[in-house]
Order: sequence, then structure tokens, then C-alpha cells
Amino acid sequence: MRGWSKGLAAAIGMVLASGAMAAAPGEQGFRDLYKELIETNTSASAGDCTKAANQIAARLKAAGYKDADLHLYAPPELPKAGLIVAKLDGTDAKAKAVLLLAHLDVVEAKREDWTRDPFTLVEEGGYFYGRGTSDDKAQAAIWADSMIRLKQEGAKPKRTIKMALTCGEEGGFPFNGAEWLVDHQKEWIDAGVVLNEGRGGELDANGKKVLLTVEAGEKTYQDFQLEVTNPGGHSSQPVPDNAIYRLATALVKLSQSDTPVTMNEVTKAYFTKMADIQGGEIGRAMKAIVANPKDTAANALLSQNKGWHAQLRTTCVATMSDAGHARNALPQRARANINCRIFPGVPVETVKQYIVAAIADPQVAVTPVPPAAVEAHAPELTPAVMGPLTKLAGEMFPGVPVVPTLANWGTDGRFLNNAGIPTFGIDALFRDPDFSNVHGLNERVRVQSLLDDREFLYKLAKAYAAE
Ligand SMILES: [Zn+2]
Repeated sequence: MRGWSKGLAAAIGMVLASGAMAAAPGEQGFRDLYKELIETNTSASAGDCTKAANQIAARLKAAGYKDADLHLYAPPELPKAGLIVAKLDGTDAKAKAVLLLAHLDVVEAKREDWTRDPFTLVEEGGYFYGRGTSDDKAQAAIWADSMIRLKQEGAKPKRTIKMALTCGEEGGFPFNGAEWLVDHQKEWIDAGVVLNEGRGGELDANGKKVLLTVEAGEKTYQDFQLEVTNPGGHSSQPVPDNAIYRLATALVKLSQSDTPVTMNEVTKAYFTKMADIQGGEIGRAMKAIVANPKDTAANALLSQNKGWHAQLRTTCVATMSDAGHARNALPQRARANINCRIFPGVPVETVKQYIVAAIADPQVAVTPVPPAAVEAHAPELTPAVMGPLTKLAGEMFPGVPVVPTLANWGTDGRFLNNAGIPTFGIDALFRDPDFSNVHGLNERVRVQSLLDDREFLYKLAKAYAAE
């Protein structure tokens, strides 16, 4: 205790008296903001992103943001699909801004399926439970809290810091806020670098930090319909040519084939880093496939892991089917939906030809299902992006490697990347091996991971803005 000033001791006494002794500066405010956001249902069926956007606007204004620093927008025909954009002006008007991006909407969650109410924030056993605790209200709350902290401390960043919290990323709303901003108000969000939702960090089964990821680029989403038609007839006199059998045969052939290994600079960097983390036979296979993507033995070994299998190629999988029109009739029509996640730079037509070749039956029609895929351009992981990230990660999480990765799924990043605004999936939310049950039941996040991510992202935003 020696050496403490009277003033500091008094201040600590006040903090202790208020019962907030364990909290970092502003942590209680962050917890309140996060709780309010989780408990504001923003799913497409019954939720309201506009309400959440207004709640955040109120907090930003209370922290000192002026109306001119904020933009609230909701499409007139969808008044609950609102978004909020905010800015903190930088000192160098010529320097490109830093944009902090997250989505407010969440995947549907049915109370009867969940153990706890998905729209009540429950803290239990070191975890926060609730829909959006991880995807993506963790980052949305951290961005809003970071903007509040920056304003309160009177920060004068070199580059303007912008924040956009949008609605419609999860696809339930017939509107996408990030896409709308790119098309209609690009100057609100234009930036030299965008920090968006990412894969975060990975913990092992014992809670030890294994690696931290940075996502650069993502796959493109495209569905294909397989369809077989047939004259049909009375089911009492079957014939060999049957629409259901033909479709089933095509699906079996597709299940037994795989697209060729495809790699880019990001996935080569991923497997090179992962080779050191994994070591042994797996590590050797990773090095081998980087050196030669046609190495079939390495491909066979690595592809046993679903994440690595997807990182190595375009994937296509049957997700729905429907066939026949009556129990007592030979089927006149049989259809299946094939959902493909296309590796960056691979044309849709190439993927169609892969499916056509795999099933090798001209009577099975293969057609892309609208809407046409939006090809996602992968941003370059330059030293200007990697520098501040690896430096801060080294300080906060010493010894934990930063691993570049390609997102196997889609995010709003594609709209910005395609508009020439380089967008990366960056966060330090260290998740359990179950990936926090994102999109699933009983979504949760470790309380400590969330608080670490809060410090990490706040410091990282400042570091980029100072460049
Ligand atoms: Zn998300």
C-alpha cells in the first residue's frame, strides 16, 4: 500500500464502496450495453434492429456525440431493419478512415428449444448465454463501447474512426444494411481498413489459447438445383427409369466425388502456420499440400477434418430434396438442392461443370438457383494490416500465433471488399472448440474471452487509427 497517494486511495475506496472493485474502467457500462443489446430481440421474425440502433444512438449521444456524427437509417418498407453509423473525426483529413463493422441482427432462436430464454442475458459458470452473445452482438457491443470510450477520453486519432452496425447479415430480413450503405451512402463507411466479424481465437479443450485468426476473404454462396423429370405412370407397373432412383444415383455420385484442391495466398499462409502448430504427420501433410496442391495423400489426410477440407476447396453438398406427387404414382419429378461454397476466384460455371461431370447423367438438369452468386474479392493482408495486429496480439496474448484464414462462410465483408474497401475478419473472442454454438442452441461465450476481446479491439482500433 505504501506509495499510494491519498487521492488515489480515496478513489479506490469509493470504487470499493460502490461494489465495482473487480471491474476494469468502464466495464460496468459495457456490460449494461451488452445486456441491453442481447435482450433486444433482433431476429427477422419478431425482432427490431431499429430499436437496438436507437438504444446505441442514445448511449453515444450521452457520451458526447453530436447528431451530425450519427446516421440512423431504416428502409421505409422495413422500419425494423434499421442501422446506425457513427464517426469520430481524425486530425488528418487526408488519411483514410478506419471502419468498425458489425451486424445487429441475429439468427432465429426458439424459446422452447433453448435451455434458457435466448433473449435474456444469463451469466452462469463463467459464460454468457443468449442469442447473439457471440455472433455478432459481442463485436457490436464492443464497437459501440469503444466509440464511447474514445469520446470520453477525448481521443484525437490521426484517422477518422467510423462505426457501422447494420441489419440483415443473417439473411432473414429482405434487406442488407451493409449492401445498402455501399450502394447508397458509401461516404459514410468509406475506409482504408475495415474490422469486421471474424473467426476469433481458438481455445483447446482445457481453455488454453491455441491461435488467433485473421480472416482475409470469404467464399461465395451459390445453390444449384438438380432436377429429373419423367412421364411417370401407375406405381403398380414400375419401369427401371424412375425419377427418384435417377436423382438418388446422381446424389450418391456427387457424394463420392470432391472438387480439386484450390489454394490462394491466404490459405497457403494458413496451412504454413498451422503446420508448425500441429506438427507431426498432420504438419508434414500441410507443408506438402502448400508445396504441391496435387499431393493426393496429403489431401486425403487433411480432408478428414471438415474445417481443413472446406479450407482446401469449393464445397458442394445436398441440403434439400423433394420428389413425387402421389404415393401411388411413379414420380414425374425429383429435385434436390445442392449448396456450394465457392473458393474465391472460381467461376460459378466451373462449379456447375464440376457437378455435371460428377453425376455424369445428361438427364439430370443442373441449374444455378437465383440469386446469382456475388463473387467475393479477397483483400490483401499487407504489412499495414498485419503489423498492428501481430504487435498487439503479442502483447496481450504472448506466444499465441496469428493465423490468416479464408472464411468458409459469407459475411457482409463481401459487399465492402467488392466496393474496394478492404475488410478483414478480426476479433480476439477466444472460443471453445464447439465454436460457441454460433447459430445453434444455447449460444454462449466465455465472460473472460468477451472482456479480453473488448480490450483487444479497442486498442487495435486506436492502433490502426494512429497509423
Ligand atoms: Zn455474424
